[in-house]
Amino acid sequence: MLVLMKVNATTDQIEQVCSAITEAGLRAHPLPGAQRTAIGVTGNSGPVEPGNFEDLPGVAEVIQVTKPYKLVSREMKADDTVVRFANGASIGGDELAVIAGPCGVESREQVFAAAERVAHAGAQFFRGGAYKPRTSPYAFQGLGEEGLKLLAEVRERFGMMIVTEAIDLESLRLVEQYADMIQIGARNMQNFTLLKAAGRARKPVLLKRGIAATLEEFLMAAEYLMSEGNYNVVLCERGVRTFADHTRNTLDLSIVPAVQRLSHLPIIVDPSHGTGKRHKVLPLSRAAVAVGASGLIVEVHCCPEKALSDGMQSLYPEQFDELMAQVRLIAQAVNLKVPPIRTDVAVKA
Ligand code: PEP
Ligand code: MN
Repeated sequence: MLVLMKVNATTDQIEQVCSAITEAGLRAHPLPGAQRTAIGVTGNSGPVEPGNFEDLPGVAEVIQVTKPYKLVSREMKADDTVVRFANGASIGGDELAVIAGPCGVESREQVFAAAERVAHAGAQFFRGGAYKPRTSPYAFQGLGEEGLKLLAEVRERFGMMIVTEAIDLESLRLVEQYADMIQIGARNMQNFTLLKAAGRARKPVLLKRGIAATLEEFLMAAEYLMSEGNYNVVLCERGVRTFADHTRNTLDLSIVPAVQRLSHLPIIVDPSHGTGKRHKVLPLSRAAVAVGASGLIVEVHCCPEKALSDGMQSLYPEQFDELMAQVRLIAQAVNLKVPPIRTDVAVKA
């Protein structure tokens, strides 16, 4: 259920409605919009009697939300959600968000070499896993907290916001402490315990689509995060498993407008995991921006042949420079700004 406040409703009136909802044993989620505030009501097992709230001061109307996902739906909030960060960057607004960096944090030299290049090219977010969910238990599992410390040093040095994955409750606690955005990976999209815990975290969440997830399952996973009070959620299409064998996964760009129709949450695209092959990353990045994605997350490594994970799909820094140059042109066509090249970050020849 959704309580829609009047345009001129006061803060006191909004608080009063929230208290009434809480007193009824339900949970209130005030979601301010451009025009007015909507208050989502969750926690009810059956229909709630709208009359309880309809007559409270400042209330315009009470609406039943028909979709199974409530807080993520456009019925709840018509305006696009914009997630804002301490360095001035945002996801979902008028700027294309670019998250770039290696698959995994391997060493100080490796992260700093990649960070310098992607910061120079204009990326405002740096990625790199300190905890790696790997198919093989014998493959590189990540540096753990030591990796998170290196990422925090990257933020300190280059001012990029840190996006890194939490794979379980223990790593979530540390990722929340060190990073600016918590990534929930494809394999964990339906790890409901982890989703609930990330929903209680104080940092924005990047939720990747599961390898076989339908649109509804994807949105329901986001609902878990929002239902716990975390409204700063960004979705990420990263390819799904199909019978195609020319590509690691099939990047489903059609989900971008599908999500945008149903949800106010921003959606970005990962052409690296979406394709698994370096030569496909640039063309699919162009396509992702053209289709209307709010951002890209791209793997970049200065020496991909030596990468401990996902070297085949990691771009060389020069290729990332080219990607940024081409994406700048396409972003213009869809009215998105792209941060300029940073001359304050010198790149060693
Ligand atoms: C990653 O971003 O390195 C990663 C493991 O992604 P995904 O969960 O999409 O496979
Ligand atoms: Mn990877």
